[in-house]
Amino acid sequence: MRSCDVLIVGGGPAGSTCAWQLARAGLDVLVMDKHVFPRDKVCAGWITPPVIESLELDCTDYAQGRVLQPVRGFRIGMIGQAGVEMRYREVASYGIRRCEFDQYLLQRSQARLRLGEPMRTMVRDGDAWLVNGEMRTPLVVGAGGHFCPVARTLGRPPGRSESLIAAQEIEFPLSARERSECRIDNEVVQLYFCADLKGYGWCFAKGDYLNIGLGREDNYQLSAHIEQFCRWLQQRGMLPRSLPQKFKGHAYLLYPASRRTLTHDGVLLIGDAAGLAYPQSGEGIRPAVESGLMAAQVILEAAGNYRHRRLEPYASRLADRFGTRNPRQHSASWLPQKIRQNIAARLMATRWFARHVVIDRWFLHTGQAAVPTRWPS
Ligand SMILES: Cc1cc2nc3c(=O)[nH]c(=O)nc-3n(C[C@H](O)[C@H](O)[C@H](O)COP(=O)(O)OP(=O)(O)OC[C@H]3O[C@@H](n4cnc5c(N)ncnc54)[C@H](O)[C@@H]3O)c2cc1C
Repeated sequence: MRSCDVLIVGGGPAGSTCAWQLARAGLDVLVMDKHVFPRDKVCAGWITPPVIESLELDCTDYAQGRVLQPVRGFRIGMIGQAGVEMRYREVASYGIRRCEFDQYLLQRSQARLRLGEPMRTMVRDGDAWLVNGEMRTPLVVGAGGHFCPVARTLGRPPGRSESLIAAQEIEFPLSARERSECRIDNEVVQLYFCADLKGYGWCFAKGDYLNIGLGREDNYQLSAHIEQFCRWLQQRGMLPRSLPQKFKGHAYLLYPASRRTLTHDGVLLIGDAAGLAYPQSGEGIRPAVESGLMAAQVILEAAGNYRHRRLEPYASRLADRFGTRNPRQHSASWLPQKIRQNIAARLMATRWFARHVVIDRWFLHTGQAAVPTRWPS
């Protein structure tokens, strides 16, 4: 029978961050992922500066052979309108490629890895869990994303009776010819909202790659919305005339409406498995990293006693950080109710609103400092 101190299911940003902290503290950590890395993940690949800070990422080291695109501006508007462009003096965000970013963080974690192996079963065995019938551990951390099998063990099957964000994207290398055809500034992220304000599309270049996508709080005619968005960008000369591949989609939960059970005896959920993405922007990497850090801190404080009572502080720290969960709050909070269609179109065209509300507050969360690697107890 094999064993480890902590088994983390899922090697995305949540799992690798938690593993990094626990391995640093001397625990025997095993990360199991159903994919062999590097693997791709459906994502725009936009990260905000607190992610770099919380991860103590050495940007010079990271940028060796990987894309780390500085973003210094945003163009904001409604689909069909030119929008307003804003520039920042400092780097306001970064573009990364998930196949590189996730691989880097996982390797750096120093945890033992079992890649290409899905978690299939976990059954209680005395004070421990028996995973896949052969790995015994006192603690399982569920970091398997939206469809995390550990989340399923704790409650209702993921996806049922949950209000979701559905999003699709493509990322592809831009040829020199395509680049000359398009008006694309690598340092400016473009964000355009749907007319009904139920979602937004993005288009941004990072290094030699272009990423376009659209996310909505309902799945209704998502492909049609994307088609319309792409056509409009092509007409404006912002996108190559033909796209090289099909869009890939994924769904995930936004924080306040998520009602997943977060902790139980010897179990804890982090990142998308817990449903933590920011409601206004859909940003999920920062909450994944931060929840990984907070979980690691609670695990270390529990000092080997992983009864539910000892893990519960994790849920209250999440509430302190992201606000109290409200399962009745439908993800319509993607955009505040009161800002509705025609008012929004006018506000969105206002430089002050676009900068201070949309970008600074909703997308960059400039008022919220990075979670330090040692969360105060
Ligand atoms: C189209 C789209 C665009 C997005 N753009 C952004 C963005 O630009 N910026 C941002 O911050 N957020 C973005 N997000 C959200 C972001 O991708 C997620 O919130 C983030 O990846 C969550 O990280 P995680 O570690 O919790 O889960 P994941 O990154 O999903 O990692 C989960 C891991 O678990 C593994 N796994 C799953 N099941 C099993 C199993 N049974 N056994 C073992 N392993 C398993 C998977 O292989 C995967 O490696 C976007 C989402 C979508 C859909």
